Amino acid sequence: MPRPFNFSAGPAALPEAVLQQAAAEMLDWHDASGRSSGMGVMEMSHRGKEFISIAEAAERDLRELLAVPSNFHILFMQGGGLAENAIVPMNLAGPDAGGAVDVVITGAWSQKSAAEARRYADVRVAASNEADPGTGPCTTLPSPTGWALRRNARYVHICSNETIHGVEFHELPDLSALGSDAPLVVDASSHILSRPIDWARVGLVFAGAQKNIGPAGVTIVIVRDDLLDRALPYCPSAFNYKNVAAAQSMFNTPPTYGIYIAGLVFQWIKAQGGVAEMERRAVARASMFYEAVDGSGGFYVNRVAKDARSRMNIPFFMADERLYNDFLSGAKAAGLLQLKGHKSVGGLRASIYNAMPLDGVRALVGYMKDFQRRHG
Ligand SMILES: *Cc1c(COP(=O)(O)O)cnc(C)c1O
Repeated sequence: MPRPFNFSAGPAALPEAVLQQAAAEMLDWHDASGRSSGMGVMEMSHRGKEFISIAEAAERDLRELLAVPSNFHILFMQGGGLAENAIVPMNLAGPDAGGAVDVVITGAWSQKSAAEARRYADVRVAASNEADPGTGPCTTLPSPTGWALRRNARYVHICSNETIHGVEFHELPDLSALGSDAPLVVDASSHILSRPIDWARVGLVFAGAQKNIGPAGVTIVIVRDDLLDRALPYCPSAFNYKNVAAAQSMFNTPPTYGIYIAGLVFQWIKAQGGVAEMERRAVARASMFYEAVDGSGGFYVNRVAKDARSRMNIPFFMADERLYNDFLSGAKAAGLLQLKGHKSVGGLRASIYNAMPLDGVRALVGYMKDFQRRHG
C-alpha cells in the first residue's frame, strides 16, 4: 500500500526515503564508511565524534544547497519561528533599548512578528496588505517602492512566504535601492530550500524546520557576522546569536535528533539535484494546482493576486460552505490528507512542500474535478 499524500501545512510530510533511512538507523547509526556506532542518534552525546560529524555534515550541506557565503553563520537553534519573533529583536534591535524596527505586513505571520517585536523595539509598519480591496485581506504584495522605511531602522522584517494567507515574495526586496542600509530579516519558515536566496539582500534568515526541512524543534538561523554584536542586555545567553555562533550551535544541548533528520533531508535534496531542482518541481506542482483552481469556472477560488501567489501554501475556497466537510472526508478516503484551511481564513488549503511529489498534486486535482462533477 503506498502512503497517502499529506498536504499538512506543518509539521509536514517528509521524503519517504528519509523516513526509511531514519527507521533503519534507529537502533544503530552507521557512519559514512558503514561503521556501526552501537547507538541510536537520540542516545549520543552531542559532544561525541559521531554526533559532531552528523552536525558538521548537516551544516556543510545546507551551506552548499543555499550557497551561503562565508560571512554568514548557520545556527541550529530551538524555539521555532514564533520564538524567533522575540529572539531576533533581542539580538538585532539593540545594543540600547528603543531601537527602530520596520515590519512589512503581508499576512498572519508578519502580523505576529510585528506584535512580538513591539515588546522589545519601536516597531512601525512600513507597509501592509491587510486592507486589500476586492479579493480580501492579505491577498497582494505591497510594492517595495511604496514602503515607508526609516533611516535609523535597526532592521526591516518580512515574511517571505505567508503560510496561512498563501502570499509569497518571488523576489526579495533590495533595501539599498530603496535608500535603506538596514539589514533585511526574512522569516522563510515555509519555503526555505524551495528557491535560491539572494544573500546580497539579506542580513538574517530564519526558518522553523517543520515545514520544509525536518521535525519540529529545530530552528535554522542564518545570520551575517556583523550582526552578532547588537544584543539587548537581557537577551538570554542561550538565544544570543553570538554565543550560539561561537559554540557552533552547541552552547547548550541542541535538538540532536532533529538536526540529524534535517541532515538526511539535505542529503536527499542534493541527490535530487539541489535547490534548482526543488524550485523546478515547486513551479510544476503550483502551476498544475492553480490551473485546476482557475479552470474550475469559479467552483474553486484562490483569492491571492497572481504575482503574489505562493508555490507552497495554497488556500482555496468553494462558494457553498456546506460542501467542505464532504470534500474533506472524501479526500481522506481517497488518500489525500490534511486539506482543511487554517481556522483564521477557513476553506481549504493545500500545502505542497519539497517532499510532495507531482503525483500527489495530480491525485488532488483529479479528486477536485471529480468532486466538482458530483456537486457542481
Ligand atoms: C509555522 C510558521 C511559524 C511558526 O513556527 P512555530 O515553530 O510554530 O513557532 C513562523 N513563521 C512562519 C512563516 C510559519 O509558517
